Amino acid sequence: MERIMLTKILIIYTGGTIGMSENEDGAYVPIDFSNLEFFLPEIKRLNYSIDTKSFKTPIDSSNVDVSTWIKLAQFIKKDYNNYDGFVVLHGTDTMAYSASALSFLLENLDKPVIFTGSQLPIGKIRTDGRENLISAIEIAASLKERKSELREVTIFFDNILYRGNRTHKYSTEDFAAMETANYPGLAKVGVHVFFNNQVMFKHRGEGLIVHEKMEQQVAVIKVFPGMTEAYVKSVLGIEGLRGVVIETFGSGNTPSYPWFASALENAINNGIKIVNVTQCNKGFVEQGRYATSSQLLKAGVIGGADMTTEGALTKMMYLLAVDNIDFEHSMTISLRGELTWFSSLD
Ligand code: ASP
Repeated sequence: MERIMLTKILIIYTGGTIGMSENEDGAYVPIDFSNLEFFLPEIKRLNYSIDTKSFKTPIDSSNVDVSTWIKLAQFIKKDYNNYDGFVVLHGTDTMAYSASALSFLLENLDKPVIFTGSQLPIGKIRTDGRENLISAIEIAASLKERKSELREVTIFFDNILYRGNRTHKYSTEDFAAMETANYPGLAKVGVHVFFNNQVMFKHRGEGLIVHEKMEQQVAVIKVFPGMTEAYVKSVLGIEGLRGVVIETFGSGNTPSYPWFASALENAINNGIKIVNVTQCNKGFVEQGRYATSSQLLKAGVIGGADMTTEGALTKMMYLLAVDNIDFEHSMTISLRGELTWFSSLD
């Protein structure tokens, strides 16, 4: 008799609201979520083989750092051949950073890695966690000839599957907590699950490579009207600094203060990499379109196109830890679908 192989899914619980309950002060704290079936008996009815692993100490995602990302990458590496797909339960606050980071750490990923979580804990009657988790499992387990067509790190939230490194936490209130303003959804869940296969990431290499290093000597400078020289110079003067993402106005513009451009230029001449992303949710950086960004181009700032801050920062942390790469070139091409190549009409 032929043995039917069940699709195998690994759920990795890192923490976040989905697995929290209220302490005596009424504040949400992470609970032991390893007995997932207690909270979500419905998963027994799914015809998959589902295992759960949990971080020893689950965390609120505000406490995520580089070591969390490396740990997650190592979890997936260890069990990569044992499962068809992975669902990562994670807090929403930094989910976009973590999904972006994992997209870079897991090169040539051939299986789905789906982050999800919720705005209300799973124990609450109105929780969004139940739908999010069950649909994330269903999507991770959707195989064609025993293989998923989804081969990238994604986020599933409120019926939409997003590319992880394009995502941004958009709402603290709505169940639709995430958005990808510059990229379409990869799947939509309603009565049916519709996959948008054309926009799914297709990697060029073969065989999973798990990177286990990231550079932490990086910073983000958000420009604002009236920013002072002392503010900018104190960040650029950080000992050992290797890279900075600057969040600029509109299509990449900043105040034209001569001290600003020359501070950036000095930093670049000292080997610090600087990448320009926009504070807008939608659209992209186009250095040189306005005079207020030409000075950045001249100073050697790298245009970040339509990358999110989360995507650009984690890409920078990844690239700065890789030996022998052309940083400038790698930053401006799509490595994991994190940016769009633009060709202008004029
Ligand atoms: N503070 C929580 C976290 O990010 C929020 C959430 O899960 O939605 O872990």
